[in-house]
Amino acid sequence: MLAATLLRKKRAGAALSREEIRFLIDGFCRGSVTDYQMSALAMAVCFQGMEPEELSFFTQAMLESGETLPRIESDRPRVDKHSTGGLGDKVSLILAPLLAACDLQVPMISGRGLGLTGGTLDKLEAIEGFRTQLSIEESSRVLAEAGLFIVGASERIAPADRQLYAIRDVTGTVDSIELITSSILSKKLAANLDALVLDVKVGRGAFMQTLREASTLAESLVRVGRQAGLATFAILSDMDQPLGSAVGNAIEVNEAVATLEGNGPAELRQLTIELGVRLLRATGLAADDQQAESRLSRELDGGAARERFERMVVAQGGQPRFPLPLARSQIVYAKRSGYVTGVDCGRIGELIITMGGGRRTKKDTIDASVGMSVHVRIGDQVEREQPLITLHSRRRFDDCELADLAAAIEIDECRLERRAVVLNTVP
Ligand code: URA
Repeated sequence: MLAATLLRKKRAGAALSREEIRFLIDGFCRGSVTDYQMSALAMAVCFQGMEPEELSFFTQAMLESGETLPRIESDRPRVDKHSTGGLGDKVSLILAPLLAACDLQVPMISGRGLGLTGGTLDKLEAIEGFRTQLSIEESSRVLAEAGLFIVGASERIAPADRQLYAIRDVTGTVDSIELITSSILSKKLAANLDALVLDVKVGRGAFMQTLREASTLAESLVRVGRQAGLATFAILSDMDQPLGSAVGNAIEVNEAVATLEGNGPAELRQLTIELGVRLLRATGLAADDQQAESRLSRELDGGAARERFERMVVAQGGQPRFPLPLARSQIVYAKRSGYVTGVDCGRIGELIITMGGGRRTKKDTIDASVGMSVHVRIGDQVEREQPLITLHSRRRFDDCELADLAAAIEIDECRLERRAVVLNTVP
């Protein structure tokens, strides 16, 4: 087989066979298929898409480029959740220990910040000493001890995805439904799970800006996950405004801990529980939604999830001293009265990166102490001079900059309905 022939075939819109896909992925990992050939493939997939069966073969080949996490017979059901990423999304920090407290095992392989959205690993690294890079053997030990771990994908997990993702990032080929599906699922399938729930974000603070795009991605993820034998579910959730109030790294860990202690924002708790319900049902731990919800609420309110979180932090080398310290604060006040009609998530995300809370290049280090609390949500009534945002930054912002930031909270005379956080479910 010749890579160039297969690239021409894909460029013309034909589906590649299982053998042809294997040839490309195996060759890519061994070096006989080059980066520029894989870039051409990624671009052809962006334009031509993939047939459902072809996408399953592609995902399987990416998975099989690496190892899978070991399972021992006595293992409890293994579950995980994945989010497509959004501003202030700290659900994993709450849901993973909550599921562990419900007697599930949660081997969570997570990611770093992407674009304007923060990553779970960056947030956890705000905790002094916390190690996100564990060997497969170390992570198995943490799983046995705490019932969960949250780590980055080791080089042995889906290496083809790691290599391909680096290429996609710099060739304008990240936002393809097929490439996102295979990238996410190759890593999740490697964790040897019984059930997976996907939180597909929709709106101004997400990759998928419309419900239609997000639904297509959710359906693709569920279909390919199920074809690979994994019970897969998706929730489409609102990302037209940050989830909860905290956006940043240490500040999001603090909000997650507050939620684990019963003091978090209502919509953050609600989404966490809704995602958990899917997994409790899928693993047979609950017979219906109501039973699942009451079990999850019990473990959250009774402190068991908080205790699991602490166990994980300690098992992964972290110092469980909360709340984590934040940079000095300044308040951003409303310049007019009215109702909140929108949140400029792009501006907020960019500001976090500018303050050092995110990366401009892969090598940048993150300042965990910077961030913000957004005090209002779409539909809220506000009065002039009411605090809108508490900013945590290393440098003082002048009045002009604060006024500019106040404009990120869009205020108008007409009242909008408060948004539901869960927009749809698949199936
Ligand atoms: N997250 C991933 O792991 N892969 C993608 O392609 C996009 C988001």
